[in-house]
Amino acid sequence: MFRVGFGFDVHQLVEGRELWLGGVHIPHPIGALGHSDADVLLHALCDALLGAAGLGDIGRHFPDTDARWKGADSKLLLKEVVRLLKEKGWQVGNVDLTLILEKPKIMPHVPAMRSIIAPILGVAEDAVSIKATTNEKMGFVGREEGVAAHAVALIQKD
Ligand code: MG
Repeated sequence: MFRVGFGFDVHQLVEGRELWLGGVHIPHPIGALGHSDADVLLHALCDALLGAAGLGDIGRHFPDTDARWKGADSKLLLKEVVRLLKEKGWQVGNVDLTLILEKPKIMPHVPAMRSIIAPILGVAEDAVSIKATTNEKMGFVGREEGVAAHAVALIQKD
C-alpha cells in the first residue's frame, strides 16, 4: 500500500538567529525565526510525512506553546515523526523537497542535508531529493524577509 503526502512551511528571516536548513547550520547574516530551530525544510518534510499517514500536522504534535520544543533541534522532531509512522506500520519510500529562498546558495550544502536526513528516514540518500530555487526577487522571499519550503513524501506498508 502506498500513500503520498504534501507539506509546506514558511519562516521569517531576522537578524540574531541562526539559519538551519535540512538539519545543517548555514552561515548567513540572518536566520529563521521560530519556536524551535525553525528549520523550514525539515518542518515541511514532517508535515508531508504526517499528511501521508493521516496523522495531522506538526503543530498538533509539537505545539509552539510547549516548552519542550523551545529551541528544539528539528532533527528530533523528524525522528519523532518517523517513529509515529513506524508505529502505524509505515516506512518511508522517498521524499522530494524544494527550498525557496533568495540567499545564500544552497547547492553546496545539499550533500550534507541528504546525509543527515536519509538515515533518519531509513532510506538511501538517493531517495532524498533536495532542490532549491530563488523567488526571482519577488514577494517576501524575494525581499529576503522569509524562507519557504515544499515537501512531498511517499510512504508504504505491506
Ligand atoms: Mg515551521
